[in-house]
Amino acid sequence: METKELLKRLIAFATVSSDSNLELIDFVQSLLATKGIRSELVFNADHSKAAMFASIGPAGKPGLLLSGHSDVVPVKGQNWTTDPFTGTEKDGKIYGRGSCDMKGFIASAIQIMLAFADKPLDRPVHLAISFDEELGCLGIKDLLLQLQHLKVEPYLCIVGEPTSMNIATGHKGKTSFRTHCCGDEAHSSQAPLHTNAIYLACDVIAHLRNLQAELMTSGARDEAYNIPHSTVHVGTIEGGRSLNIVPGECQFVFEIRYLPGDDIDTYLDNLFKQAEMLVQQAQQAHPATKAAITFDCLTRYPGLDTPADHLSVRQLQALLPDETKTLKVAFGSEGGLFAEYLSAPVVVCGPGSIDQAHKPNEFISLAQLQQCDDLLNKLVPEICFNRSEHD
Ligand SMILES: [Zn+2]
Repeated sequence: METKELLKRLIAFATVSSDSNLELIDFVQSLLATKGIRSELVFNADHSKAAMFASIGPAGKPGLLLSGHSDVVPVKGQNWTTDPFTGTEKDGKIYGRGSCDMKGFIASAIQIMLAFADKPLDRPVHLAISFDEELGCLGIKDLLLQLQHLKVEPYLCIVGEPTSMNIATGHKGKTSFRTHCCGDEAHSSQAPLHTNAIYLACDVIAHLRNLQAELMTSGARDEAYNIPHSTVHVGTIEGGRSLNIVPGECQFVFEIRYLPGDDIDTYLDNLFKQAEMLVQQAQQAHPATKAAITFDCLTRYPGLDTPADHLSVRQLQALLPDETKTLKVAFGSEGGLFAEYLSAPVVVCGPGSIDQAHKPNEFISLAQLQQCDDLLNKLVPEICFNRSEHD
């Protein structure tokens, strides 16, 4: 099967993050098994989703690890001109949800596993497929623990998110929280006697805006990013019941995307202490009423910061066209987690452009898919053939 045909098969599995990915994983496992490739699964708690890990070549040696996520973002409310879960070929492109983010890379990586399964490799090639990446890199962690246990130490790890086949050696880390502020409801004519949950939320948000200003002026800087500092952002807020009731509840979500040079835990500790102080002040002002602020962590993944001159990265660079850029990307990926858990050199490099990801009429060009096939066909021999024991 050609890579593009395999991609169409993968698109047909509607693996939106909220739904099961087991049919896709079962299909991939069966396909790998036709070449005798064994794979293992790591399930989520209710067994509705699984991450998959497969290897070819000798175990116990550092090899090439190719990684992708099976889940895709929803299509609901988006205006598609083709069926998003039918891979549609038109004008040198394949349209469909997940075509570029990131089933194109997965199709290419599966092809490479099949093509080299019966070749005499001196180093292994691994394929890791995760789930729940689009929910904040949630579905890779148990698999990474399993890989630690198996002592998998990649020589090079490629996370195939769409970079138009450029090499991304870095991205920011990210953490996000839901903040819940509680006051007490009362007739609005009595407002000064009660704690207003919306006011509490506004005070916490004011602290977040000060934090953004501080990070901009005195935080870490990396000019390789278009926004060269860590960023703070409040995305949604809701609270209150009606104008004539003092609001008892208000909640909002915020994220911090941080550079490795910023000590994010210290900033968060300060935020939590500030919130405690606000609660104490509210309770002092209105002793008979209640006040509370709680923070629920929604996501947390580390940034990626692989040295661009790392030997493994340079080997990869040498196989790509001269115009290939080495850069840092604005979006997050599982790459930071791979680097943290496996101490491996990790890059993000995959076909398609992030400009097409998550949008209606998402597509990948056949030229990009071909470039990815070409790269992997050169990279496996480069890294996994004719290596002496001393490498
Ligand atoms: Zn992605």
